[in-house]
Amino acid sequence: MKSDFIFDLHLDLEVYFNKNLNNLLNIPSDSLLTFKKERHFDLIQAKKAKIKFIVSQIQSLKYDLKNKKLKIISNLQEFIYNYHNFINKLKIYPQFKIIKNFDNFNTLKLNQIGIFLGVEGLYFVKKLKDLEILWNLGIRVFGLTWNFKNRIAGGLDSDERLTSLGKSTLDFLVKREGIIDCAHLNYFSANEVIKLAPKNFIFSHNNLKSIFNFKQNLNQKILNRIKNKQTLIGLTLLPPALSDISKNKPTFQAWIKNYKKLIQINPKIVAIGTDYFGFNFVDSPQGAKNYLKFRKSLVKYKVKIDKIFLNTLNYFQSKIEKW
Ligand SMILES: [Zn+2]
Repeated sequence: MKSDFIFDLHLDLEVYFNKNLNNLLNIPSDSLLTFKKERHFDLIQAKKAKIKFIVSQIQSLKYDLKNKKLKIISNLQEFIYNYHNFINKLKIYPQFKIIKNFDNFNTLKLNQIGIFLGVEGLYFVKKLKDLEILWNLGIRVFGLTWNFKNRIAGGLDSDERLTSLGKSTLDFLVKREGIIDCAHLNYFSANEVIKLAPKNFIFSHNNLKSIFNFKQNLNQKILNRIKNKQTLIGLTLLPPALSDISKNKPTFQAWIKNYKKLIQINPKIVAIGTDYFGFNFVDSPQGAKNYLKFRKSLVKYKVKIDKIFLNTLNYFQSKIEKW
């Protein structure tokens, strides 16, 4: 199947709908039915930009308005509350369909967007039973951490390794063909995931350190280890992953540099993970302010959208068949 659809490995729809986290975006959480160029995504943009699949990672963070600081959600029930809130918002739109199993995937209609549920940081997981609850809720993409450490692994702002709960977490997920998202893991923890779950890990929203030195971007050592594996790297529009935003405006051209480099390394692992709705709208990259602009730029720069889509679809399909 040759098609130029888009499969986005990281679009923070949950943040958009989450009253507390929405404060960070500078976009009101209005209906998605109308077109607004001053927001990253809506259903009109989705149709024109041919977005077919989205992974939406439900956050493990809350924003402390008074102290202007991000805090972790350490209580599973609090996370589940956010989960249900998100599911209820999605239900308003028949255009969205949540994919939890092969049957959901198989019956996705032409005019629908398939949503895979993920989680960005397991700060509230204390035992395997908690993980099982998440699996039964339909979560299929598991970011083990955000930047802080937890009981499972070490995030980008820590030096921690995978813990023994972390190892049994991987075991649990690999058995079920769950997808492990290494996007926010530090070097040590990411390496251990690659070793213990060589066919079940992805980096959902990361660029390359050789293009721009940002903590979330992948270094050459990691790239060498994963370049011939069955995996995906979702090249991202996250502004600080593109440029030093205090000095230079982030641009789509910086994204293209990452793309050109990664297709030389291995075109089969190239994917897209915009991180739209995961950052303040005013910081959005030039040439990719919203999904319509992003799509236009992809076409203009002759990005092989069809190949990227197939990479991502094939990877997911190999897992979905066992869900
Ligand atoms: Zn992230």
